[in-house]
Order: sequence, then C-alpha cells, then structure tokens
Amino acid sequence: MNSRRDFVKKAGLMAAATAIPGFATGMTPDKGRTLSLKKTKVSVDDQWDVIVIGGGPSGCTAAISAAREGAKTLLIEAMGQLGGMGTAGLVPAWCPFSDGEKIIYRGLAEKIFEASKAGVPHEPKDKLNWVHINAEYLMTIYDKMVVQSGVKVLFFSRMAAVEMSSKDTVDAVVVANKAGLTAFKAKVFIDATGDGDLAAWAGASFKRGDENGVVQSSSLCFAFANVDTYNYLYGPYLHTSNKNSPVHAAVASGKYPLIDSHFNTNLNGPDVVQFNAGHIVNVDSTDPWALSEAMMTGRQIAGQYLQAMQDLQPKTFGGSYIIKTASLLGVRDSRRIEGDYTFTVDDWMQRKSFDDEIGRNSYYIDVHKAGHKATRYGKGESHGIPYRCLTPKGLENVLTAGRCISTDEEAFGSLRVMPPCLVTGEAAGMAAQHAIKQSGNDVHKIDIQYLRKRLREEGQYFL
Ligand SMILES: Cc1cc2nc3c(=O)[nH]c(=O)nc-3n(C[C@H](O)[C@H](O)[C@H](O)COP(=O)(O)OP(=O)(O)OC[C@H]3O[C@@H](n4cnc5c(N)ncnc54)[C@H](O)[C@@H]3O)c2cc1C
Repeated sequence: MNSRRDFVKKAGLMAAATAIPGFATGMTPDKGRTLSLKKTKVSVDDQWDVIVIGGGPSGCTAAISAAREGAKTLLIEAMGQLGGMGTAGLVPAWCPFSDGEKIIYRGLAEKIFEASKAGVPHEPKDKLNWVHINAEYLMTIYDKMVVQSGVKVLFFSRMAAVEMSSKDTVDAVVVANKAGLTAFKAKVFIDATGDGDLAAWAGASFKRGDENGVVQSSSLCFAFANVDTYNYLYGPYLHTSNKNSPVHAAVASGKYPLIDSHFNTNLNGPDVVQFNAGHIVNVDSTDPWALSEAMMTGRQIAGQYLQAMQDLQPKTFGGSYIIKTASLLGVRDSRRIEGDYTFTVDDWMQRKSFDDEIGRNSYYIDVHKAGHKATRYGKGESHGIPYRCLTPKGLENVLTAGRCISTDEEAFGSLRVMPPCLVTGEAAGMAAQHAIKQSGNDVHKIDIQYLRKRLREEGQYFL
C-alpha cells in the first residue's frame, strides 16, 4: 500500500463515506404559527447612508463604490469573512474575465481579480480565463479594499427582518448577532444576499428556478491536501468533459452512490486541489432545514469522491485527505428579484446592448440541470447589463446586486457567476449614493447617463 496513504489512514484522516443515520429525517417546525414579540429589545443604529447586506463579490464592490462616492456605508455579513461563494463557498476559480479577445469585466472587478493572482503564483500573470482562487488570500484582498474605501464591516451578523416606513420604502433592517437584535437604518439599502432576502422580505416580487420552481443543483465545494501534484498535472484530465476521466468509471461502478459526473478540479496551491464537484438536486436555499440537510449530504459526497479518487488514482490521491469543505453551501440558483427590466435569454441570444447598460457579460449559459446543453458566444461577443435589472419594482430605496438581479432562468445561467456579480455590485453601490444626492433616495429616478459616466471614469467597460 502507498506509504503516504498508510500515514493518512493511521492519522485518522480518511473521510467516512457512510451515511449518518437519521440525519435527513429531523422534524420541521410548524410554519403556520407566529408570535408577536412584546418584551424583546431592539437597539437602533441610524447613522448610515447606504447599507449593503451580504459580503459576497457583489456586496464587496457595492460597498466599496458607495463609500468611494461619498456614502457613509455599512456592510453586514452573516459569516466572518468577505467573498461569499468565492471564499466561504470554496468556488475554486474565476469564470473567464475576457470575451475571448479582451478583458470586459473592468473597474473594481478587474482590480480585485488582478490582486487575487498574487495568491496563486503558479498561475500565469496574464491569464484571464479560469484563474484559480486561493480563498484565504482572496478574502484578505476584499478585507483591504473594503476597509481602505472607508466601509464599516459588521461580521457574524445576519439580517433577520425588514422594517418598512411605507409600502415602498425600507426603513431598517433588523440584524441578529452576539449583541442581540439591532435595527440598522439607512437612506438606501443594497440586497447582495445572493438569495434576495432583503428585497423579497420588503415585498418585491421574484421568481425562483424554472416554471415549475425547480432550481439548478447546488454543490458543496471542498479541498484535498497532500495530493501528488506531479501525477495530478500529468495524469488523466479529471474534468467531466473528458470522456475517459476516471470519474466516469467511478460513477459507473456504483460503489460510490452519492457522487455524479459533475467534476471540476483546480490546483489551488502546492499539493492542494479544490473541487467543484457533485450535485445536490433542487435545494431551496431559503429553507434553513433544506440547507442543513444539504450541508451534511455535501460532506458525505466529498468523502465518497475522496474514496473514489484514492481507489482509481492511487498515485495521485492515495495520500490525500479532505482538508476543508466549504462553510457555505454552493447555491447556484435562488430568488431572482423582479426589476424594472428582466433580462431574458432572447436578449442574451441577440447580444443586446442597452441605453442604460452598466457593464458587459460574455459568460456562457451554464445551467446545472440534467440534460441542459451549454450555449456559448463566439470570440469578442458580449451583451449589455441594463441598470434596470438592479432596481426592484415597487421598492423605492432598494437596489439588488449579484445573482439576485432581474433575469429569466436561462439568462440567469450566464449572469450568476462572479465577474458579472462584481460589475453589478459596483454599479449598485454608485447608484445608491447618486439616489441619495439626486432623487430623494429613489433608485428608479437617478441620472443614468451620469452613473454611466462615473462608471467609465472608474474604468468600467460597456457600449
Ligand atoms: C458550486 C458553485 C460553483 C461556482 N463556480 C464558479 C466559478 O468557477 N467561477 C465563478 O466566477 N463563479 C462561480 N460560481 C458562481 C458564483 O460563485 C456566485 O454566483 C457568486 O459568488 C454570487 O455572488 P453574490 O455576491 O451575488 O452572492 P454570494 O457569493 O452568494 O454571497 C452572498 C453573501 O451574503 C451573505 N448573506 C446571505 N444572506 C444574508 C443575510 N440574511 N444576512 C447577512 N448576510 C447574508 C452570505 O453569507 C454571503 O457571504 C459558482 C457557484 C456555485 C454555487
């Protein structure tokens, strides 16, 4: 037996791939009953111009650009780190930053992307597509850029409710953390929660998944350490797209019942390989019971991939072990908040440009559902992202950014990834401060040509 593998086994580091008895059968609460709180104290903090909920890629750029425009900005994040799926979610690589000819996600997006490369020195400096991510390094980039712009960050704080001052205006978000409950007030709020929690709770209409409400599959990303880098790089290409990848043999063997052929790996550091692999079908990420079950399933799946790779690729993975599973479930698909404009797959197919576009996108239509075929642009092709996708219908002082903006389900498959999320975040942050200055906090009435001018000055690219 491989001696590295022996060592790992002795050290008790092999993942157990057996099912946890009863983990999927817990009781769920009676959702029909409610309780009005009479004695619970809620503190008030009303010093903010702009509050951003969610510190993922879009929340970070939203907060930075709002602060840069002069807004007193608070960024509230449920986890203890910035970066969302790209850090806590262990997504292993940036989707392409180029349209095949040139970089098109510019402004803050480009700055964050370029800065992140120092964390993966084995990647070529001029690489634009599928650059690997060192999650620990990337979160320090976000920390630095957010703090340097003057944003105040509040970690371990989850928005739990929204208070309205009128039917269309949010007055405060109620946040739960170790200090208890606090109502944070602001002039404009940005929903960068990924799930559209803020806008949905404020009453915005939204769609979720396809016409039957079925969402794209989730994945819990994970990392193996002590991989033999030489054999990993020079052995068989493990990606799903390789018909001869050992992963297909592992699935066909039936020995690892939880795994499937969605398998994507990246070398994220010496002897460390990060995986975006396995599908957990139709998880409702707004249901904490479903999320809890999916996290445990995801860890079981990671264990079975480890076992499969050790069995089928012992030279590469014989001594490896799971060093980390993500702290956030990899949720691809959740609420899409209905905006003044809904970007559709027809718009995507027509490579449409818009008078109010605030960025461009060229990522393919990447829908993680059985049998879905990817649709791609040719070199140099892209479409515009309209500002109106960021302004929820019926809400005056709320913007959306990131993966909860207004699209249809197919077009969402393209706009949900990190580069466009960074771009919509930057535009939302800037627009929030413009709404305060120009239109009594009404995000629907700002001067869009001025927004576009400011975005261009900050380096953003659009037609
Ligand atoms: C498995 C998987 C693989 C992917 N692979 C890639 C890839 O290879 N490359 C790529 O570019 N993109 C990839 N993506 C897409 C991309 O990572 C996400 O769509 C993107 O990160 C979305 O950014 P966001 O800012 O909208 O939200 P998120 O990244 O989801 O961040 C949302 C943040 O909000 C916080 N939050 C949520 N609710 C609350 C609340 N109520 N109160 C306080 N905080 C809250 C969360 O903790 C989180 O930090 C992948 C996605 C998944 C799921």
